Amino acid sequence: MPTASDLAVDVYDAVKTYRSMRNTIHALRGVSITVRRGEVFGLLGPNGAGKSTLVKILMTVITPTSCQGTMLGKPIGDKPTLAKVGYLPEHHRFPDYLTAKQVLHFFGAMSGVDRATRRKRAPMLLDMVGLSNAGNRTVRQFSKGMRQRLGLAQAMINDPDMLLLDEPTDGVDPEGRRDIRNLLANLRAAGKGILINTHILAELELLCDRAAIIHSGELHKQGTIAELTTFNAAYEIEARPTAATPAPSAEALTADLAHLAGAQLQITTKPTGEVLIRWATTDPADIQPIIDRLRAAAWQVTRVYPYRATLEDAFIKVIEQAKAQENAKRHTPAHSTPTAGGQP
Ligand code: ADP
Repeated sequence: MPTASDLAVDVYDAVKTYRSMRNTIHALRGVSITVRRGEVFGLLGPNGAGKSTLVKILMTVITPTSCQGTMLGKPIGDKPTLAKVGYLPEHHRFPDYLTAKQVLHFFGAMSGVDRATRRKRAPMLLDMVGLSNAGNRTVRQFSKGMRQRLGLAQAMINDPDMLLLDEPTDGVDPEGRRDIRNLLANLRAAGKGILINTHILAELELLCDRAAIIHSGELHKQGTIAELTTFNAAYEIEARPTAATPAPSAEALTADLAHLAGAQLQITTKPTGEVLIRWATTDPADIQPIIDRLRAAAWQVTRVYPYRATLEDAFIKVIEQAKAQENAKRHTPAHSTPTAGGQP
């Protein structure tokens, strides 16, 4: 269990309700997340889920209806703490007449970094994000990817202990995305807490240690990427018949292997003629007798691999469940208790 000093963010029961004459919007309905120092944490959710609202509460841009917890050990909402926080907002815009260096000086000065430190850090940061040759060029001449790299450098000008990054790889080409991943891995190794808000799930899977899935202002799941993607785990074996295979069909194989794993085995024929044997187990010991039996029956094993769901599978499953829960709630009498959001 992480101790309080291991935690960069420990938000508990964040609630934000927007009320107007016409309607009430529950942007957050009691979300709790923890981000450790030295980890990359992903905030996932469809548009309107409440991700930006949570980040804005941490950045004190908006006031929560209610919220408990700490960031870098200080109560959420404590302004001086922001001096140790780096922020990359979504769709950020820098004045396009400024050079990259001027942008870093401008934002550095705003977060209280003295001139001598800014002079030292600006070229170092430009180098870190791959813009060392563009320091004197104006933002006007920058591509989307370059602006995003500059945004990251800007978020680091105050040497933050915690980074809040809204869509950091938005508009960045594959090489640039890899650079950003490497950069974030270095920051993680240096013990920074990094909270990323993105909808690019494949990117997050490569980047994040843990993630939370939010829908309609509620937290539905939080955990390591492995924990979020454990469902549907299986071993898959591909094999093709040879001239010596006595019964080269999926049906015959199903009957032959039935005594080993019975109904747990799913056997299908692939368009290539190979059979695909799927067994819902994570233990490689389970599949050894199947491989032995295949060999004994003159099947040639072409591939054996552990299958696990992707983060996208996990996300879609959680969102579908969340929608089903919401529908059920809509049809439940008002006095019944709502289901609690998932916890790790
Ligand atoms: P996300 O970042 O996950 O796309 P947001 O946090 O921006 O979602 O928004 C969550 C919900 O709060 C949405 O329904 C959005 O329309 C609503 N919302 C956000 N800002 C305001 C505001 N200033 N006034 C009213 N509703 C808002």
